Amino acid sequence: MIYTDNAATTRMSKTAIDAMTPYLDTIYGNPSSLHSAGQEAAEALLASRKTVAEILGCNASEIYFTSGGSEADNQAIVSAALYGERKGKKHIISTAIEHHAVLHTLKRLEKQGFEITLLDAHEDGIVRTEELIDAIRADTALVTVMYANNEIGTIQPIKEIGAICREKGIPFHTDAVQAVGHIDIDVNRDNIDMLSLSAHKFHGPKGIGVLYAKKGTVLTNLIDGGAQERGKRAGTENIPAIAGMAAALKEATEHLDKNAAKLTEMRDRLIEGLLKIPHTILNGDVAKRLPGNVNVCFEGIEGESLLLLLDAKGICASSGSACTSGSLDPSHVLLAIGRPHEIAHGSLRLSLSEENTPEEIEYIIKTVPEVVSYLRNMSPVWNDLQKGEKNYVIQ
Ligand SMILES: *Cc1c(COP(=O)(O)O)cnc(C)c1O
Repeated sequence: MIYTDNAATTRMSKTAIDAMTPYLDTIYGNPSSLHSAGQEAAEALLASRKTVAEILGCNASEIYFTSGGSEADNQAIVSAALYGERKGKKHIISTAIEHHAVLHTLKRLEKQGFEITLLDAHEDGIVRTEELIDAIRADTALVTVMYANNEIGTIQPIKEIGAICREKGIPFHTDAVQAVGHIDIDVNRDNIDMLSLSAHKFHGPKGIGVLYAKKGTVLTNLIDGGAQERGKRAGTENIPAIAGMAAALKEATEHLDKNAAKLTEMRDRLIEGLLKIPHTILNGDVAKRLPGNVNVCFEGIEGESLLLLLDAKGICASSGSACTSGSLDPSHVLLAIGRPHEIAHGSLRLSLSEENTPEEIEYIIKTVPEVVSYLRNMSPVWNDLQKGEKNYVIQ
């Protein structure tokens, strides 16, 4: 099997599994317990917190462990919104291409009387800082812009956005779930006040993540109870997952440059190969994108059928059209960058990891055109396009 769906989740590394094993087995104490069994767990908790903090460039006391990226996004946004509201600020700026963990949280706040401005991501999938400056108001409580997009891989000008927010005194949150462990991040250099990350996107375990919140940030609890995470996130800590996450992040960071170079080469070869298929278009800027992300649209076919046929040929990939989530709506990201519905439906995302090989890339480059031709031959839309009864949209 060739796995190219690493933006959905990654395989756990051996390092992460090994780091977790003792805490699943013999070291099972509760870190809040005063006895030695508890203290062993507490030591692992502190060591993991320090590892994550060092990699992000912050203090261990600014790290809050959560159940994953979604929870971290929710807590960051809700905290800033409620803090702003107490000061009479009820306006939030974000982008049209955020993950649903952000967009749906904003929708809920909108129903509660907040005003949301979504910045345009343009055809290249990148927001413009001038448009952010124009959108900022006296009552802006938060700016939240993702570091890198999970569908089209585009990387936003985070440092510049952070600098603008800092100058205006507006809290800045970034959903960095796709970026951490893949590109170099430093919360101080990048002027970030709050950041979300998730372990299962960098070969760590599922169900664990981090909210970084700069010292002085006022957080609101989503989960009340015990005093864990300095009173900001109740519940007995998931020590095995936390230890696995720290180990995976350390490993990813140590190999970041080498992995990025390997991925970029495979990515560019894959893009070159796929764009040879007629009436195919690349989604997202060609350069400002994650090293492992390829996302293309093929005119005249349905992404769902493409995925099933690729799966039958041993390739696990993904499509922007969310048929798996029970709806046939095309991706909100592809629509936001201006792809018409019928084009957005024919999308294919291949998200690579350093575990992929150049041989696998060649197999994909050989297989995808065959499957696309097969589907186009049975596609009424493609037929109309061929006969000139419809205009080609992709030239
Ligand atoms: C995966 C992902 C999330 C959600 O993270 P979970 O840990 O699965 O909750 C949020 N944002 C982005 C950009 C993601 O890719």
